[in-house]
Amino acid sequence: MIRLCVLGPSGRMGKAVLEAAQGVTNASGRGDGVTVTAAVDRGEAAGIGGEVAPGVRATTDIGAALDASDVYIDFTTPASTRGAAIAATPRRRAAVIGTTGLSAADDEAIAALAQVAPIVVAANFSVGVNLLLGLVKQAARALPDWDAEVVETHHRMKRDAPSGTALAIARSIAAGRGVDYDAVKRHTRDGDIGPRPAGEIGVSTVRGGDVIGEHVATFFGAAERIEIAHRATSRAIFAAGAVRAAAWVAGKPPGRYDMLDVLGFTP
Ligand code: NAD
Repeated sequence: MIRLCVLGPSGRMGKAVLEAAQGVTNASGRGDGVTVTAAVDRGEAAGIGGEVAPGVRATTDIGAALDASDVYIDFTTPASTRGAAIAATPRRRAAVIGTTGLSAADDEAIAALAQVAPIVVAANFSVGVNLLLGLVKQAARALPDWDAEVVETHHRMKRDAPSGTALAIARSIAAGRGVDYDAVKRHTRDGDIGPRPAGEIGVSTVRGGDVIGEHVATFFGAAERIEIAHRATSRAIFAAGAVRAAAWVAGKPPGRYDMLDVLGFTP
């Protein structure tokens, strides 16, 4: 049995991870072989002290929680994710990290953990989006002169923009073309922007309602266009993927892995 520590159990994803780990919504049975032994949340969060899994209460003591687990699953905030990685490094604790909107300093803390422990980091843990990453890369490689645009839509509470998934899709398009994404990206358009530069990769953000996550990559040719889209209708897909990643990563050599490694996909 792999012992899981769930960070942010009161959050949208934290709740979905608890359900997936307990097999409640996980029809594929991916939760088998894992057990939740610890949970960590913010001090003021309602979940502190309450039971989040049979016999498990959320605490603010990340050290004790990591000591009671083999792998932690983190869908929280960038600051919390950095703090957890710093606490996990001396403990060489394996991790599954799904938080998005990370800064360079957050990435550094995660990189330090990856030196001593196996970790899976992904902006999206669904099977469908990870397949889509390969499809857009292939399309971008075949259609180097077509205009590529990504549009992402999420619920009104989402904090970071563009979504980590939209950025991963845009980076796959750049990789398919063998170009540096930062040199060709366009995240905002406003005012007299002139004609679209050749080779630009655009990412646009829409926010509203309770949309769990929609991503559409469009390749515009002359008089034709291709759309490759993914629409999530339940957080259970991300949670099931994260639990599957936790079971996969336990016992692997130290290093940073992604969901393509877990799924065995080659984009
Ligand atoms: P949310 O606001 O519902 O939940 C965040 C949780 O983090 C809350 O429970 C909060 O109490 C907790 N938290 C904050 N500070 C903490 C701390 N110091 N220690 C422990 N817990 C702390 O957000 P959400 O919708 O669940 O999303 C969380 C993150 O996951 C976001 O960055 C989101 O973009 C990302 N996300 C990733 C995927 C993926 O597949 N990779 C999918 C969905 C969401």
